[in-house]
Amino acid sequence: MTDTHPTGWFGDFGGRFVPETLIAALDELADAWISAMADAAFRDELDHMLRHWVGRPVPITHCPRLTAHCGGADIWLKREDLAHTGAHKINNTLGQVLLARRMGKTRIIAETGAGQHGVATATACARYGMTCEVYMGAEDARRQALNVFRMRLLGATVHEVHDGSCTLKDATNAALRDWMGSVGKTHYVLGSVVGPHPFPDMVRDLQSIIGHEARGQCLDRIGSLPHTVVACVGGGSNAAGIFAGFVGDADVRLIGVEAGGRSDDTGEHAASIGLGAPGVLHGSRSLVLQNDDGQTATVHSCSAGLDYPGVGPQHAHWHASGRANYIRVDDTSALDAFQLLARLEGIIPALESSHAVAAACTIAADMSSDQVLLVNCSGRGDKDVEEARRLLD
Ligand SMILES: *Cc1c(COP(=O)(O)O)cnc(C)c1O
Repeated sequence: MTDTHPTGWFGDFGGRFVPETLIAALDELADAWISAMADAAFRDELDHMLRHWVGRPVPITHCPRLTAHCGGADIWLKREDLAHTGAHKINNTLGQVLLARRMGKTRIIAETGAGQHGVATATACARYGMTCEVYMGAEDARRQALNVFRMRLLGATVHEVHDGSCTLKDATNAALRDWMGSVGKTHYVLGSVVGPHPFPDMVRDLQSIIGHEARGQCLDRIGSLPHTVVACVGGGSNAAGIFAGFVGDADVRLIGVEAGGRSDDTGEHAASIGLGAPGVLHGSRSLVLQNDDGQTATVHSCSAGLDYPGVGPQHAHWHASGRANYIRVDDTSALDAFQLLARLEGIIPALESSHAVAAACTIAADMSSDQVLLVNCSGRGDKDVEEARRLLD
C-alpha cells in the first residue's frame, strides 16, 4: 500500500513551502535518494553498517510482568533503546550521511532540540570523517550542556541560536537559512519525518527498518502479527518507522501517542494532531500548534524529544484518513510508566517512549489476553534519569 503522491503530498498534507533557492536542491536530493535505494552497493553498505556498527537487528522483548499488571493483551516491546547511541535516531542519520557522501557533499548540518539528533548526526559524521555543524537553541544548549559536550567530543561544531524562544523551531529555521546559502557542498540532515519533500519520505524509509524487522520477528516468535502497534509521536519518525511495517496489513491497528503535557491549554502540551490546525511549518503543510493569531505556539512536554509544535505530514494524513489513531498522554502518566517499566521489566525507557508505554497499558486493558500489543521503545532512559529525579522530588 502506498499513499505517497510523487510530488510528496499525503492527501492535503506535505509539499514544499520553501524559497525558490532550495527547490533545485530538493529535486537533486529526491533523485539521489531514489537512485541510492536502487543501488545494491549503497544498500549493502547501509545494511552492513546497521548490523555491525548500529547493532541491528534489535530484538522484540516480551513483557510478562507489565502484561500481568495492565491486564489484557500480551505486551511486547521493539527495542530501539538497544541501538547505538540509545535510540532510533541513528537509523536516519547514518543513512543520510551515507547519502550525502554518495552525492559528493563534504559538509553536514543539522538542527537539534535536546541534542539527541545532534549527537546521532555527529556520531555518523565522526565515523565517515565529515564536517558536522549543529544548530541548537541557546536555551536548549544551556539545559542540555552534556549533549553539547558530547557533540563536541564527537568532533562537531555547535552553533547556539539566539532567535525567538531559543529552542528547536528557531534552530530549525537557522539550519534552513544556512542550507539556502551553502547547498552546493552541504547536506542538511533533518531529524524527523517533517520538512519539505523528500524528507518525510526519506526519513520514513530509513526508519522503516524498525517495522520491517518487527513484522518478521512477530511472525517468527509469536506466530502472528500484532493486533495493535503503539508508538510515541514527536515529529513522528519512530512511529512512521514502525507503522511502515504494518500499514499494509489492514487488520493491524496503529496508534500514535502525542505529548499531553500539563493540560490542553495552548503552550502546555505538544499535541499537534489532537489539538493543532492545518498550517505550514518548516517547509511543509501539516497540523501545527498555533496561537489565536496564527503564530506557531510554544509547546511543553516533560520529554524534550516530543516538544515540537508540528508533526510529519504523513501522520496528519493517516489521522485524516483514519488509518491511524492519535491519542495523548500527559506528563504525569508518562512519568508513572517510566517507573513502571523499570520496576516490572528491568528496562528504563526514554521519557518519550514512556508516553507509548503509558498508552499501551491503558489500551491493553481493553483487549483480550489472546491479542498482542507491540510498543515501540524508541529509546533508553539513561538520558532522563536526572530530569525524572527532579520531577519526582
Ligand atoms: C527524538 C526522539 C523521539 C521523537 O522523535 P520522532 O521523530 O517522533 O520519533 C522519540 N523517542 C526518542 C527516544 C527520541 O530520542
